[in-house]
Amino acid sequence: MQVPGMVKVQRSAKKNRWLTLIFMLIPILLAGLVTFSHAAEKADIASGGRTIVIDPGHGGHDRGAQGPDGSLEKEIALRLAQILAKELKPDYRVELTRNGDYQVPLTRRASVANHHQADLFISLHAGGGSRYQMDAWSIFYYEASESPEKTGPENTGPEKISRDKPGDLPLPWDRVCLRYQKESRTLAECIKTQLADIPESREVTVSKAALRVLQGLDMPAIVIETGYLTNPKTEKRLNDPDVLIDIARRIKTGVDVYLTR
Ligand SMILES: [Zn+2]
Repeated sequence: MQVPGMVKVQRSAKKNRWLTLIFMLIPILLAGLVTFSHAAEKADIASGGRTIVIDPGHGGHDRGAQGPDGSLEKEIALRLAQILAKELKPDYRVELTRNGDYQVPLTRRASVANHHQADLFISLHAGGGSRYQMDAWSIFYYEASESPEKTGPENTGPEKISRDKPGDLPLPWDRVCLRYQKESRTLAECIKTQLADIPESREVTVSKAALRVLQGLDMPAIVIETGYLTNPKTEKRLNDPDVLIDIARRIKTGVDVYLTR
């Protein structure tokens, strides 16, 4: 038989043990929270809080160019974009305009970047030429030309603005990215320097072009054309994961140079 007082003492001893345990756990939990927030802070310091939007060209019904062996530009662009995202993520916040095989309207791609208040927009393509020997490594930045465009990715490249259709007259919002023309060119040059010495690649050119995908972007923005998929040699190279990793690392270095210059 237990004395009522003893039951009370046992209960209060149990309560005390719980309280001690809770008090012991609080500093551990707090230390964990502090470490977590420090880690997040560190990542932000490393990126300077910068956001990069990567835009894999085409997708869904819009397959882009096709290689002689059947490779599709939309697939190469997505593969390269995912590798580039992986390379950039330790240092930057990264968003993709698409992360699967579906169609994304060009205006939607721009609005994703504007919504995330991106610091940079990089659209990836590997277009095609009318002859199988054709190949070109090009980086484009935006211009709203009054005259028909002379340069730009061929065929299924990011849609060019035609002056023939009434709906294509420049709108005020399409002028936004003209503010970043100089910065976009500098970004293009930084990446060109890195891509220029890729073995077996052609000369990399930097040009301005009235590309619809670059319209309305409120940040420095470029389109990178990593060769023509319609060229058999280029198709083979762009199907090599090591080549894509090399291209992605060089683009990342170009971005680093641009943002820390
Ligand atoms: Zn394309």
